[in-house]
Amino acid sequence: MRLGKDVEVLPGSPNTLIYQGRVVIDQGGRNSSVKLNAEVQMATHGHMDHIFGLTTEAKVKYIPPQDMWALNMIGRRAMTYGFSSPQSPLFTYDLVIGEISLSGDPEVEIVPLPGHTPGHSGYILGSTLYAGDSFFGQKVLEGFVFPFFVDFWAALESMEKLRELFKAVENVVISHGPVYEKRKMQELLDFNVQYAGRLLKWIEDEIRGKEATSQEVTVRVMMRAGAKEVKPTNLLLNETVVKSILSVKAKEFRVSEKGLVYRG
Ligand SMILES: [Zn+2]
Repeated sequence: MRLGKDVEVLPGSPNTLIYQGRVVIDQGGRNSSVKLNAEVQMATHGHMDHIFGLTTEAKVKYIPPQDMWALNMIGRRAMTYGFSSPQSPLFTYDLVIGEISLSGDPEVEIVPLPGHTPGHSGYILGSTLYAGDSFFGQKVLEGFVFPFFVDFWAALESMEKLRELFKAVENVVISHGPVYEKRKMQELLDFNVQYAGRLLKWIEDEIRGKEATSQEVTVRVMMRAGAKEVKPTNLLLNETVVKSILSVKAKEFRVSEKGLVYRG
């Protein structure tokens, strides 16, 4: 799909962006099998579905320095799931490859948009902003229930920063969701901000005047959002976001037989 003279998007999850036929952003997922022979391969952050391009022969390979944990599998697992082990069926979202090495300077405008991961960044190529996983398509959000933010609060600030960045570009592309024109992307960003506000309120409801563990809060909020089934891996991932919120919003913390309990 062409977005202009210089920009092409290979739809997928993530959507892969190609600039001037030589700079490739976030080649991963089903787009991993496409032969692109890029000069420059960049990943917005270290998650396993975004970094396949860094394993290719490109001259320049770049990932934000705060996401260098992604260069080996232990780091990727630890930063996604909170821990690592050699074999576990819990690591559903994974990329089993050896060590990754980086090289060169991409000479692309880099905009830090932290929250999804520590180093998560957007890249500006001509008049297009590739915003990675700083916000998500509506179906993706509703399917997972929680947007994966290791730091929910930093992610909210990054979404505010995006409002400003929108003014300076003609197109905005995200990794997981449809490719829309700018006006509809702006509406999607607004939807993401409102959605995050609603989750925050629902989490507060779960600890107002009562105690709950982060896992209890996660399961209850997922059920309230209409999830029919909560899979173990999704509970692990979503609990990370809930802990980022509870650690700020709870007024009391206590260890019980159930584990760490929070009260609002
Ligand atoms: Zn990600």
